[in-house]
Amino acid sequence: MGFESKKLYHKSMNEIMNNTIGRPSHLLESLTESATLAMARISRELAQQGKDVVSLSLGEPDFDTPDFIKQAAIDAMNKNITHYPPVNGILEVRQAIAKKFERDNGLHYKADQIVVSTGAKQAIANAVYALVNPGDEVLMPSPFWVSYAELVKMAGGIPVLINATVENDFKVTPAQLKSAITDKTKLIIYSSPCNPTGSVYSRAELEAFAEIIEAKEELYVISDEIYELINFTNGKTESIASVGNMIERTITVNGVSKAFAMTGWRIGYIGAPKWIADACNKMQGQITSGANSIAQMACKAAVEADPEVVKPMIEVFKKRRDLVYSLLSEIPDIKINLPEGAFYFFPDVSAYFGKSDGETTIKNGTDLSMYLLQTELVAVVSGGAFGDDNCIRISYAASEDVLIKAISRIKTGLSKLK
Ligand code: PMP
Ligand code: GLU
Repeated sequence: MGFESKKLYHKSMNEIMNNTIGRPSHLLESLTESATLAMARISRELAQQGKDVVSLSLGEPDFDTPDFIKQAAIDAMNKNITHYPPVNGILEVRQAIAKKFERDNGLHYKADQIVVSTGAKQAIANAVYALVNPGDEVLMPSPFWVSYAELVKMAGGIPVLINATVENDFKVTPAQLKSAITDKTKLIIYSSPCNPTGSVYSRAELEAFAEIIEAKEELYVISDEIYELINFTNGKTESIASVGNMIERTITVNGVSKAFAMTGWRIGYIGAPKWIADACNKMQGQITSGANSIAQMACKAAVEADPEVVKPMIEVFKKRRDLVYSLLSEIPDIKINLPEGAFYFFPDVSAYFGKSDGETTIKNGTDLSMYLLQTELVAVVSGGAFGDDNCIRISYAASEDVLIKAISRIKTGLSKLK
């Protein structure tokens, strides 16, 4: 294997195979470690060994949570909002979220259609478990966010990828969606703005999808809008639930992690038809109970605020997007789209496959990300984890200095491949 980083990645699996620390269930053995979190872990471990690693692996804003949100949490503690909250969320928090959906997305949800969870990740997991039966097919425009496919598999469902490429701005067409639907299709999951590609579906595109979805009975959509506010198009992020009768079939996922720099607070939420919200509530009641009460009150302050408060952060992300676009454009033979939202690039690096630095021959995006980590100490995530191993994912939620250093290392690493 040769790579120290690969060793780190497989360390825990080897411990398991050697039976030094027991064996997890078959379900857990079949589960892939989250590639984003794995790469973040490996770069942290290398940094602890004194290596000068530059990490563009994790999708996490490098800003601090705004003070008015922190103050709301302090107030909540002082008011002793520190007891078990209702499983689906504190009523006034759900009411504030319902108002946010109305204000920003034109969606009419009542408070009992909202479920507050421990991050958008748990919100998505709840919804998948609420809807997917063993053998159900779940469509995912690909590239897709890492956890979707694993969550579907855990629920016994079958992830079915609908492939989009950089040439098509990583967007699937209505015709592709239509031809992927079978009798077994139960659910579609996508994010817009998209992690990992930054693509944003327009209202017209969502209307075309909605027409196809509404023509099939019992077909639902998880619309992951966690990057709603990190959108550089002039328009706003469109919610498919606001098209036609799609509100009956859509679980709208959102949260405060990204736009409000609140990744560690762990609050996400859904708006959904009441029967789906009830199912998510039931699921959550057996796993985690209500999300952290103090963080919920901080979330309330965030969603009640005018979205303009995060504009300065969004402007910084846009500037970085433009910087990284121009730096990546200077690297020969990689193909990129211009991301319209989120904070990722997803370059197609397949022109480098079959090339070698004399020691390592690169066969795919996974090899390339390991090679860049090993030889240039720059951490990115392999595209394979997002459904396309011709690519690597670069998170530009980092300072301009870090970005310049990291992209220059990527350029150097690639130039050594002949
Ligand atoms: N959806 C997408 C598309 C994401 O990138 C992330 C990453 N955090 C999540 C959901 C999960 O968000 P949270 O951190 O709130 O669990
Ligand atoms: N969503 C972020 C990412 O894609 C954070 C990591 C994770 O939750 O998987 O990098």
